[in-house]
Amino acid sequence: MKIEDEILARFRCPKCGNPNAKVKKLAMTGAGLFERWMDWQRNRYYFISCTNCGYTEVYDAEILEGKKDKLSDLLDLIFGS
Ligand SMILES: [Zn+2]
Repeated sequence: MKIEDEILARFRCPKCGNPNAKVKKLAMTGAGLFERWMDWQRNRYYFISCTNCGYTEVYDAEILEGKKDKLSDLLDLIFGS
């Protein structure tokens, strides 16, 4: 299962309780082309936005992807099971 899907399956907005969200994977990039590529490797984030109130949470993609085998435990911790 993709991380985006895992997140969406568990999401519940902490502000309004809405279970629906959209996930974007974005990079915070530097100015130059090479720096941008380097930053893409390092600085990728999942932006999870509540579709009801717009509340957005941001997670470091490198950390979530590095925990793939323990990801569901981690998401239980973040969103509750
Ligand atoms: Zn919300």
